[in-house]
Amino acid sequence: MTEQISVNRELFDQVMVPNYSPSAVIPVRGKGSRVWDQDNIEYIDFAGGIAVNCLGHCHPALVNALTTQGQKLWHLSNVMTNEPALRLAKKLVDATFAEKVYFANSGAESNEAALKLARRWALEVHGSDKTQIIAFKQGFHGRTFFTVSVGGQAAYSDGFGPKPGDIVHAEYNNLDSVKALISDKTCAIVMEPLQGEGGIIAPTQEFADGVRELCNQHNALLIFDEVQTGVGRLGELYAYMGLNVTPDILTTAKALGGGFPIGAMLTTTAIASHLKIGTHGSTYGGNPLACAVAEAAFDTVNNNTTLAGVKAKEQLFKDGLNKINAKYNVFKEIRGQGLLIGAVLVDEYQGKAKEFLNAAMAEGLMSLVAGASIIRFAPSLVIPDEDIAEGLNRFEKAIVKIVNA
Ligand SMILES: *Cc1c(COP(=O)(O)O)cnc(C)c1O
Repeated sequence: MTEQISVNRELFDQVMVPNYSPSAVIPVRGKGSRVWDQDNIEYIDFAGGIAVNCLGHCHPALVNALTTQGQKLWHLSNVMTNEPALRLAKKLVDATFAEKVYFANSGAESNEAALKLARRWALEVHGSDKTQIIAFKQGFHGRTFFTVSVGGQAAYSDGFGPKPGDIVHAEYNNLDSVKALISDKTCAIVMEPLQGEGGIIAPTQEFADGVRELCNQHNALLIFDEVQTGVGRLGELYAYMGLNVTPDILTTAKALGGGFPIGAMLTTTAIASHLKIGTHGSTYGGNPLACAVAEAAFDTVNNNTTLAGVKAKEQLFKDGLNKINAKYNVFKEIRGQGLLIGAVLVDEYQGKAKEFLNAAMAEGLMSLVAGASIIRFAPSLVIPDEDIAEGLNRFEKAIVKIVNA
C-alpha cells in the first residue's frame, strides 16, 4: 500500500536540495490562466511558468495530443526515429530559416548543442585557432557549465572550478564593445534577441544589424538564443523575424512544449553537417510524447489569430500598467515586447521587486521578477482579456498595500 504523505512547504526543506526557495503556496491544478492551490485559493497566472505555458494550463489541444500519444508510444531513444519528432521538425523547418533540427530537453541543452556545433564547425572549416565565443553581460543561456559560463553573470558560473575557456562578454546594445573583442578567431556571437533574465532589454535595430554584419565580416556564426523569446512570445513566431536579422543557429525551448520539457536547435544544412554521427546526442531528445505535445502547441501558436492576439494583449497590459502607474508612480519604465513585459521600479523601490511579487501573490496574482528591481510578466499567449483586467486589478491592490505600508 502507498504511504499517505502530507505535502507542504516544510517537506521541501526536508527532502529537496536547497538550490531553490519556492513560494509557500503549492498549486494543485490549473485551467487556462487560472491556478488553484491546496486550499482551493485561486490565482491568475501572469508568470506562465517563466514563459513556458504559452497556452495556459491544460489547454485542450495539448491535453489531447498528450493523451493520444500517451496511448500509442512514449519513448524509443535515438536508435529509432519517430513520427511526432519528424512532423515537428518539418514544421519548424518550413516556418523558419532553418533546414535542420536537433532536439534536446531544455534550453540549456539546446544551447549546449549550439555552442558545441559552433566550435566544431569553426575547427573543421577554419582551423583550430577559431574558438572564441562572444556573449553579452547580463545574458542568460542556461545552467550547464558551458552555457552558464557563456551567460553574462559570473556569479552563476563562479565556484565550480575551472571554466570552459575562450569566452568573452561584450555589452548589449554597444556595438563598439563587440568590435573591440571580435577578430577572425571569433567562432560565434551568442545573443538573446531580447534579454529576458537580464532585465527585458530589447536590442536596437542598429545593434542587431551591426552584430550580424560583424559576424559576416569575421566568418563567425550568429547564434540567437530564443529560448525565452521564441514560439510567439514577442508576437512573431520567432523574434528574429521581427528584427529581420537571420541567425545561423537558433535555439528554442520554454514555450516550445507549452509545459512539456523539450528544446531544439535549428540551423542550416551546411552548418548542421558538422555534427556528424556520434558527435553529440541525448537519450530523450526527440521523445515522441514531447514532440507530439510540441506539435500541437506549435500549430496553436503559429497562426495569425494567436500572433495578432499577442500584440493586442501586449497593448492591454501596457495600457493597464501605465494607468496604474499614473496613480502610484512606482515604475520608471514599462518595457518589453509582446507578452514579455517588464515594469522597472523607481529608485525608491530599488531592489524590492520580490516584495511586489509576494504582495501580488497575496492578492491572488502570480508574477515574476527579472533581477532585483524589475517585475516581469510572461503570461499565456491566449490569456483571456478579462483575466488580464482582473490580474491587473489584483496587482493594483498589491501596489496599494506596498505604497501605504
Ligand atoms: C530559460 C532560458 C534558458 C535556459 O533554459 P532551461 O530550460 O532552464 O535550461 C536559456 N536561455 C534563455 C534565454 C532562457 O530564458
